[in-house]
Amino acid sequence: MIRDPDEVARRAKDLTEENWRFRSYLQMLRHRGRVNSLARRFGEEAAARMDCTACAACCRDNCIPLSHEEIERLVTALGMSVQEFTRRYLTTTDIDGLPAIDAVPCPFLEGNRCTVYEARPDACRGYPYIGGDVPSRTVDILERAGTCPIMFDMLERLKDALGFRGLNR
Ligand code: SF4
Ligand code: SF4
Repeated sequence: MIRDPDEVARRAKDLTEENWRFRSYLQMLRHRGRVNSLARRFGEEAAARMDCTACAACCRDNCIPLSHEEIERLVTALGMSVQEFTRRYLTTTDIDGLPAIDAVPCPFLEGNRCTVYEARPDACRGYPYIGGDVPSRTVDILERAGTCPIMFDMLERLKDALGFRGLNR
């Protein structure tokens, strides 16, 4: 497994064309249940092998949408008013119109450590979103595999397990 996010970014860039071919390949497969269960297993295994505190790439490359409850959780943790929090951190909205933190890196990142870990947004808790229907979320997966070692590893193992490599020889 490649754990260095910079190396992942380099490898993913080199694999851009192959990844888009794999996307088309996934759309043609009939057994989505198998694809999804393999992806989940590979993703969980990669997550178990990865130390996210040695990476934090997702904290350096994301717009984070926040619900009212998440804002309340953060302002409580920070001892700050909602008005002050909004003024300082909620500089944009996401595609659904939710207020969002759009700072790169995240303003709550210190080194590789999240300073609001217990109150961190749901988007951070769920990242990199291993589950779901893989063939219908390949664009999302390919994008995350470009920075996240867990997603990159999952994607590469999926190519092997689904016989995609043989087609490319
Ligand atoms: S979820 Fe992915 S990008 Fe984020 S810290 Fe863990 S390995 Fe790195
Ligand atoms: S809130 Fe914490 S986990 Fe979420 S992006 Fe910022 S530093 Fe990372």
